[in-house]
Amino acid sequence: MADRDSSPPPPGPQPIRRLQESVINRIAAGEIIHRPSFALKELIENSLDAGSTSIKITVKDGGMKLLQIQDNGCGIRKSDLPILAERFTTSKISTFSDLSKLTTYGFRGEALASISYVSNLTVVTKTKSDNCAWKACYSDGRLVPARDGSTADPKACAGNDGTTITVENLFYNTPTRLSALRGSSEEYARILDVVQKYAIHNPNVSFVCKKAGYATPDVSTPAGSDTKQAIRLIYGQTIGKDLLHAKVSSEDESGEDTVMDDEEDGSWSAEAYFTSANYQSKKMVFLLFINHRLVESLRIKKALEAIYVGVLPKGMSPFMYLSLELDPERVDVNVHPTKREVRFLDEEAIIQKISDKLQNVLVSRSQSRVFEYQTLLTGGIASSQAKGKQKEREVDSEEQPEESGPSTPSTSIPKKALPQHKVRTSTKDRTLDSMFPKVNSSQIVKGADATEDEGERPETVRRPSRSTEIKESECFLTSVRTLREAVHKVKHHQLTDILQNHIFVGIVDRPRCLSLIQHAKDLYLVNHGALSEELFYQLGLRQFGNFNRIRLEPPPPIRTLVTLAVDAEEGAGRGKLTKPQIVDKIVDILISRREMLKEYFAMTISADGLLQSIPLLLKDYTPNLDKLPMFLMRLGPQVDWTSEMECFETFLRELAFFYVPEPLLPDESDDETTDAAIANADEEAARWQIQHAIFPAIAKYLVPPKSLLDRDVVQVASLPDLYRVFERC
Ligand code: ADP
Ligand code: MG
Repeated sequence: MADRDSSPPPPGPQPIRRLQESVINRIAAGEIIHRPSFALKELIENSLDAGSTSIKITVKDGGMKLLQIQDNGCGIRKSDLPILAERFTTSKISTFSDLSKLTTYGFRGEALASISYVSNLTVVTKTKSDNCAWKACYSDGRLVPARDGSTADPKACAGNDGTTITVENLFYNTPTRLSALRGSSEEYARILDVVQKYAIHNPNVSFVCKKAGYATPDVSTPAGSDTKQAIRLIYGQTIGKDLLHAKVSSEDESGEDTVMDDEEDGSWSAEAYFTSANYQSKKMVFLLFINHRLVESLRIKKALEAIYVGVLPKGMSPFMYLSLELDPERVDVNVHPTKREVRFLDEEAIIQKISDKLQNVLVSRSQSRVFEYQTLLTGGIASSQAKGKQKEREVDSEEQPEESGPSTPSTSIPKKALPQHKVRTSTKDRTLDSMFPKVNSSQIVKGADATEDEGERPETVRRPSRSTEIKESECFLTSVRTLREAVHKVKHHQLTDILQNHIFVGIVDRPRCLSLIQHAKDLYLVNHGALSEELFYQLGLRQFGNFNRIRLEPPPPIRTLVTLAVDAEEGAGRGKLTKPQIVDKIVDILISRREMLKEYFAMTISADGLLQSIPLLLKDYTPNLDKLPMFLMRLGPQVDWTSEMECFETFLRELAFFYVPEPLLPDESDDETTDAAIANADEEAARWQIQHAIFPAIAKYLVPPKSLLDRDVVQVASLPDLYRVFERC
């Protein structure tokens, strides 16, 4: 080796050698498979071709260690196993003319062969007529023994009807391919993306995808739902709620029909689900299926995105799912080795016709944009009779208008009050408290009636209102994905069970945030402050980049708020910086980060420093605005603004801390200067939110870390023991 490096290469042309066949195959396989998600796509297509109604995927290390797909399809006959992974073996074509007619997904018989060249491939399969399942292992396209010493023949084994394909150590023998891959979490994200898209295209098939060793799947869809339900389930209510639908085909009337060509069968049909003007995101989510294959086409994507120009704000994009069926003879899938990029005849005319139709639907259904937010009035004191939520919500067809409780229109607010006066600076000043959503007893009952998802939890846990699922936002930032994964890594399973299936008993001590819950026959004393701090952190991560907003009206100046907090801080100003300098520093930080705060956290600060909105983490729960000055102040020193992941984490931790339902200062209910009626109403509202918003959300969303067990959840009694005590009395 060393010699060769030091001596110059011999002159003249180098002899051409034939590459070893296995090397050629390996290179070719890398072209086709490219990354774990591509392999999975092929395997999913095979399972769908085999008529499966249930497809379960298990992944380890982003698919590099393990990629397993179990289906309940027709299975593979034992006699076909020996040639299964040879190149150009397929059950789907036999003559050349078939090739262009094929409508099932795979058609070149290359997927399994390719995979076998770059991984350890095992197939377990059983057809209905077989008495047992057969297991076969492959390498380089051929059957190989499962372990040294045995034969390569398929072995009989137990198994269900269908096929389980296990791909292990993908790219173990092609180190360059392996090193070109991103981290396992990014590869896993791509895998999820493929599964989700196929799940939407096949709502009749149940898809489950999870990491090996994890109990909860990351994708789970039922068999037999419809496209709309599937989109809702996977991409969330925000998209699901604003979906439009259209069908177009070559038969449809259109101005001048240039597409049809009588000589050939140019007929086609398309179906699309796409968001209205009410939905927008930074990046277009685009699902394109042509003849039931997931494909990519930048041209089609651009053309369809263009119909939103003038409908969505600049730089914003929609969600769109388009399924197009064409005569397979007109499709050319071989423009790209992975068959992902597709072209077809009359492409432009067909896309034009689809765009026109979608645009018609879009424009006719989207006359005005609809915003969803909660508004908090910071401009004055709400009258003490003011009940009901200050919630503005327009045109949400699925949501009942709130009939009870007159809402206070902003016009009834005394004009004199300046925003900065609305921030509590002492225990005696309760004005902001009085503006939190209040709920009277009749609403509590109404809330109970509105319980929608019956049977999910014991009846004693009442629901405040129609609960909408808080979906995890789609986020491709590695930092956010890492933080999300970190949450699951420290999950405590038993505690999860306790919290998921708890029954709320009561608040024991409001100032110290203690509540009692029951699980099975045990009673637990929990620190709902600590639980909700973790909950709000996780809800923040979950909705990263896609928050609803709490709008502050009128928007208070952040400088005023920060000044209040800094002034109240003991010891501030005694160091190198004076108090005004500290305030300047914090305000500068916040204003210079305003773009980022707005984009990722829906925290809007105007250029002149007015705080217009803060993120809404949980519907029906409003944080204690008394803590707003402290929250803003802490954002200065407590958030690590220098590196992405730390910044997101520390920001969300601060946000969660701000959201904790802890009274700011010990309650002095005997305080004579306070309006006792207001104080009581506030306390009632706060308690109501803890019971009806926070605890249900803890049950539903909290992934509790083990650390909570250290001091925040304590078993105080078991009911059988208690009964025994009573019996003795
Ligand atoms: P292609 O799908 O292009 O035919 P593949 O290499 O992907 O080529 O698969 C080869 C053959 O193996 C298929 O034609 C099919 O007969 C069989 N096969 C692969 N996966 C499955 C499966 N999950 N269930 C039943 N048969 C399968
Ligand atoms: Mg195939």
